[in-house]
Parts: sequence; structure tokens; C-alpha cells
Amino acid sequence: MATSATTETKLYDCPICIGGEWRASTGRRETLLNPATAQPVTTVPYCTAEEVSAAVGAAQAAFETWRQVPVVERSHVFFRYRELLLKHSEEIARITTLEHGKTLDESRASLGRGIEAVEFATSAPTLLMGDTAGDISRGVDTVTVRQPLGVCVGIPPFNFPAMVPMWMFPMAIACGNAFVMKPSERVPRTVVRLVELLYEAGLPKGVCNVVHGAKEVVDALLADPRVKAVSFVGSSPVARHIYETAGKNGKRVQAMGGAKNHVVVMPGCDLGAAVKAVLGAAYGCTGQRCLATSVVVAVGAAADPLIEELKKAASQISVGAGDDPKTGMGPVVNAAAKKRIEQYIQAGEQEGARLVADGREPHTHDGTEGFYVGPTIFDHVRPGMRIAREEIFGPVLSVIRAKDLDEAVSVVNSSEFGNAASIFTGAGAEGREFAARVQAGMVGVNVGVPAPSAFFPFAGWKGSFFGDLHALGRDAVQFYTETKVVTSRWPTPAREHKITF
Ligand code: NAD
Repeated sequence: MATSATTETKLYDCPICIGGEWRASTGRRETLLNPATAQPVTTVPYCTAEEVSAAVGAAQAAFETWRQVPVVERSHVFFRYRELLLKHSEEIARITTLEHGKTLDESRASLGRGIEAVEFATSAPTLLMGDTAGDISRGVDTVTVRQPLGVCVGIPPFNFPAMVPMWMFPMAIACGNAFVMKPSERVPRTVVRLVELLYEAGLPKGVCNVVHGAKEVVDALLADPRVKAVSFVGSSPVARHIYETAGKNGKRVQAMGGAKNHVVVMPGCDLGAAVKAVLGAAYGCTGQRCLATSVVVAVGAAADPLIEELKKAASQISVGAGDDPKTGMGPVVNAAAKKRIEQYIQAGEQEGARLVADGREPHTHDGTEGFYVGPTIFDHVRPGMRIAREEIFGPVLSVIRAKDLDEAVSVVNSSEFGNAASIFTGAGAEGREFAARVQAGMVGVNVGVPAPSAFFPFAGWKGSFFGDLHALGRDAVQFYTETKVVTSRWPTPAREHKITF
């Protein structure tokens, strides 16, 4: 059953937002297709240099007054924002599914994780509290206060059109900064709606601005001396470029990169639970998650029954349009992504891995003709193969067989990435050893996708992260603020007692 999202026919031209005013960009346009149907639905502008500069200027001007708004009042904006997001959540989820392709349930869930980041931002009055040491010397007190940086910039990827931008602007703005958001040029509509609602919640004009585009716009933002901090999430080569360029230009930067996440399955674990978790982690959001499981390391006797069960379960996943309630897995984001993933499947075959489930040319249960790749499984993958090392970012699962936990940990740790790693085990000691030795920033024990809630940092390691302070959690508070240490002397004669030894 096709619903309104897949049948939308009128092209939506994405507006930009400068100084709280929404208008059409004068830049060139590209047309975006609904991934489920390959039909045009959106035009996205590529902003001019003047528009990018105007957005930064508007943010700079708004910052001067926003920083003086008491933190309790700033947090009230986010209490109201949360209510508006809940009220409009179905509408936002449908926009995400329309432009990204993920199922409506996935869009709803990821918006929910974004709302959690807004809830975290409402705690700004507590989170911004500093330290105090009274009488650090005679008549002298020292306190730390956290102050905002100025204009901050957000550059998110395509795969979470709501959630990842919400890792950025709510906490930055609640801390007293002004913001310029440059959504992914592949999914620009969700951010437009999120920022419209933020203004409806009472944000003063100019505190959050939206420009569209890709490399040129990003590079203009990185070169602008008025920009003080850059939050980036995307692929590792671009993350490195952002980190190096922003750093060279004297900006604070957090750059989250790509991933190749492993799940180790031990003999003796609850196999049913492991299969269910691996399926969700490998094929949820059609494998387009930075926490997607891409490699299963099956230890000893766990391998044969695991692969048998995975194959059976994968064949039952229903592929189709994301807004069809019968769909278990939606399309990938565009034709280029489909081609790239299919080339990886071909590479896996050529390198000698055994193709157990082939997702090329999948059957869609609803007859839609979009950018589909079905669940794919390779067995007997070796650690040196491209499908084992490189980020595929699609529904392709590689199974590597290992003889014991030691070998499994070496396989995981040989990856250039270090976003997440999980183990399925029935033995506490194995879980404990894995968590201690594995070189990844987010670790799951009997958890398929160890995504931390917004109250903890999203803590990638190695080639999955460039910077010091991660998104979310207290890291985000530190990232978006500067520490000031204030030392005051107010001698009180009555208290001038000297201790002598
Ligand atoms: P991408 O790197 O292609 O694009 C990300 C952003 O960078 C976009 O806004 C894009 O416009 C901009 N950009 C692209 N090329 C650029 C360039 N050369 N110079 C400057 N800016 C540029 O990433 P994507 O394909 O949109 O997203 C998928 C990637 O994001 C995957 O690698 C995934 O693992 C990663 N990701 C990581 C996390 C994390 O927390 N580590 C979370 C989500 C996604």
C-alpha cells in the first residue's frame, strides 16, 4: 500500500534561513529523488558565498544578545521545543522517510533519539555549573564558569536526517551559542522542519541559521574567522579534511567519521538473541548506520548454526517502500549508493568469500522501483578482504570465523576504525575481557547496537573520530563552552587567623 509519502508529486524547493527569515536561495539547484520510487520530490539549492557569509553574520549578531539571555530562559525554549517535536513527530518522521528511504518506524525511533538530545539540553542550567573553592587563600575564592564560544557550525551526514543534527544545535544553543546548520545535501528537508519548529518554540531570530550545499559551502564556513567551532559527522576522509582545515584555521573541531563495526558471537551465548540482534544491527536502516554491524566474528562451534539462522531470518525480511507498514527494510539513499554496495558484493565474490545471501536485484513486495539492495551475507570472509576492511554502508554482512576469543579480539582490533564492537556471550568473564581489550569507543555486551543515550558521549575511537571531545553527554557541554576561572579577593579582617605550626 503506497501512502502519501511515496506518492508526493509536487517538487519542494528547500528554503534557507538567515536571521530567522526563510527565503529561496539564489544558488543553483539539484533535484533529489524519493529513494523508494526514484521519483523527483525535492530541489536543494547550493548556497552562494554571499548567502553563507550572511548566515554567519546573522548568527554573530544574534549571539551578542542570546549569550546574555539567562540560562534558565534558554532552557525554557527547549522545553517548549520538545513539546512541539512530539506534537509534529509523525509529520517529521514522514519527511525523513520520504527523503532518506528508511522505514517509518526507523524514522520515528531516530527522531526519538534526537528528542532525547533536546531533553538533555533542557538541563543546561545544571550542566553549565562550575566548580567553587572558597578561601583557596586568605580572603580569596575561586570559581569556574562556562561561557559560550560564539558562532558554531553543524555539518551532518545523510543517514540520520533528524538525529545527528540534533546532536549538535540543541546543546550548542542551550549553552548560549548561535548556530549555522548545513544539512546533508542528500536529505535537507528534515532539518528545515526542525529549525522551523525551533523558532516556533520562541528562539530569537538569527540564533539558528540554515544554509544548503556541499564541499564549497562547508569550505567557506571553515574559512570564516567568525566561526569558532565545527561539529562534523560523516565519512572518515571528509572528517579528516574537516579536522585538519578547521584546526589550521584556529577553530575547535569534533569530527566523527566512518565505521566498520564487529559483533563477536561466542559458543554458549543465547543464539536466538544473537541472531535477532545481528539482524537488527546489520539490516536496520538498510545498513546505513555508523553503528551498523558489518562483520560478525563467529567463534568455534557458534559459526555453523549462526549462519544457518541468519540466512533463514534474512530471507524473511520484506524489502519495500519505507512508508509501507509491511516493509522490514527500505531502499538505500540513492542510485550511487546502490551501485557502490553492489560493487562491494562483486568484490567479495572475486576475493573468494562465499555468498550465502545475494541482495542484488531484490524483489520488492510492493512493486516499487527505487534504489533497493536486499540483505546480503558472506561466509568464510578473511580479515584482509576489502569487504572485511572497508565501510560498505549498506545491508552487507561478512562472517569471519575465529578459533577463540583471543583471535576474535585481534580481528576486531586490526580494523582501522573503532566506533563500536559487541560480544554475545553466556559468560561474564568473556564479556568483561572483551570490554577491557577491544579497541572501540562504544562496546556492547549482549547488545547489538551499543548506541549510548544522549546523556553519554558518542565515543568513537581510531579512524572513526578526529578530535578530543565527542558529541553528546558532558563532552558536548565542554565542547560548546570555554572555561573561565575567576579568582576574587575580599579580605575579611575578622577571619585573618594565621595557623602556625
Ligand atoms: P559524507 O562524508 O559524504 O558527508 C557528510 C557531510 O560532509 C555532508 O554534509 C556533506 O555535504 C559534507 N561533505 C561531503 N564531502 C565533503 C568535502 N569533500 N568537503 C567538505 N564537506 C563535505 O558522509 P555521508 O555519506 O553523508 O554519511 C555517511 C557517513 O557518515 C558514513 O561514513 C558513516 O559511518 C558516517 N557517520 C558517522 C557517524 C559517527 O557518529 N561516527 C554517525 C553517522 C554517520
